[in-house]
Amino acid sequence: MAKLIDGKAVSASVRAQVAQEVQELKAKGLHPGLAVVIVGDDPASRTYVNNKKKACAETGIYSEEYALPAATTQEELLSLVRSLNQKPEIHGILVQSPLPEGLDEEAVIEEINPQKDVDAFHPQNVGRIMIGNFHFLPCTPAGVIELIRSQGIEIAGKRCVVIGRSNIVGKPMAMLLLHNHGTVTICHSKTRDLAEICREADILVAAVGRPKFVTENMVKPGAVVIDVGMDRDENGKLCGDVDFVHVEPKAGYITPVPGGVGPMTIAMLLRNTVTAAKLQAGWKD
Ligand code: NAP
Repeated sequence: MAKLIDGKAVSASVRAQVAQEVQELKAKGLHPGLAVVIVGDDPASRTYVNNKKKACAETGIYSEEYALPAATTQEELLSLVRSLNQKPEIHGILVQSPLPEGLDEEAVIEEINPQKDVDAFHPQNVGRIMIGNFHFLPCTPAGVIELIRSQGIEIAGKRCVVIGRSNIVGKPMAMLLLHNHGTVTICHSKTRDLAEICREADILVAAVGRPKFVTENMVKPGAVVIDVGMDRDENGKLCGDVDFVHVEPKAGYITPVPGGVGPMTIAMLLRNTVTAAKLQAGWKD
């Protein structure tokens, strides 16, 4: 039986640290602030934005929400980002994806002041992560590293396999494992002998977006299995990329869905907002 990595508990402890730091910063006259921009009426995006606002309130972070109609033009959105770049009480800007069709997400990200880019999606921050000289780490991969560390698991020297190569999860995930001295393989839809490669992994991270994709025959006994997926099963129920019921007895450690990686993403966003506030104030960590 695998040890369950409890993302709710780990994220609660990160949030408590953030809340404590926010209090200390406020006492010194610095109140971290986050602006969340949502365009259109995608229900999942609405839920994410509500959760982020709630998490800010709980940790004492100041937040502003900008809910724009789906018919918003590219120029209107860019102009909002520019005005948030100038706002001194806003230290982090998050534009909730996906944007409605017709809006250029990359151009919007590039408009965000890199020091306010708490998602770490701006090309300047992506480059910083690549060379290992970064201010922020992208929230989901950073959350995964935090979960692994919470168990005292050493990454150095381990065989790490990441399934998925998206810009927001797979690629930065691989880079963070590499920074932690893992020996990393990235797999994707064109990978040959996927199951065989996965079976070599001491640490297996699934970021595929396909329900129950990682089956028991893809997992080495005792492996650390991290499930980033947020999928729906045949009954419409939230599930991960890992076939939990069959993989769990074989793995050494495993994250559940829900309650694994998901809660970490918001916790790391809060931490990045605090980092951004200190960065803009010229304060060192
Ligand atoms: P994505 O952009 O769709 O990327 C999926 C990746 O999986 C792609 O690189 C794709 O390969 C690869 N893939 C698809 N089918 C495959 C197959 N049969 N064999 C091997 N690789 C395959 O998705 P994403 O944005 O990275 O998200 C991945 C999952 O994580 C989703 O379930 C998403 O909801 C979840 N997620 C969770 C959080 C969280 O907070 N927990 C945050 C972000 C995302 P190609 O590149 O070759 O197409």
